[in-house]
Amino acid sequence: MPKFQRHLFVCINQREAEHPRGCCASKAGAALAEALKLACADHDLKGKVRVNKSQCLDQCEHGPTVVVYPEEVWYGFVKPEDATEIVEKHLIGGQPVQRLVLPDSCINTDRCPHRSSGMMQLGL
Ligand SMILES: [Zn+2]
Repeated sequence: MPKFQRHLFVCINQREAEHPRGCCASKAGAALAEALKLACADHDLKGKVRVNKSQCLDQCEHGPTVVVYPEEVWYGFVKPEDATEIVEKHLIGGQPVQRLVLPDSCINTDRCPHRSSGMMQLGL
């Protein structure tokens, strides 16, 4: 059997309800993981792409988050209904879905506009 060509990690981490960072579980992370699995199966990607539910990816403010390896493409604010587009455009077509890609400036920083201090500055 050939190795998997890609791995998708979908955060389904759950935090307590009052946690200031929020969590992907509260934003339909598990439903998104299932939608991605189904979309991959529908497109004959079984054995080529592996969709894994993940513990915290540490991008909670951008959830639900998905990371695609080996390209290291991060998606944020992904909805279950986006799954087919990710599969068709990115996994099959090779073009990341730009409207869902998290900019590098959002990853592993405490200063992006989505983090709570930034949200206060933006008046959100
Ligand atoms: Zn951000």
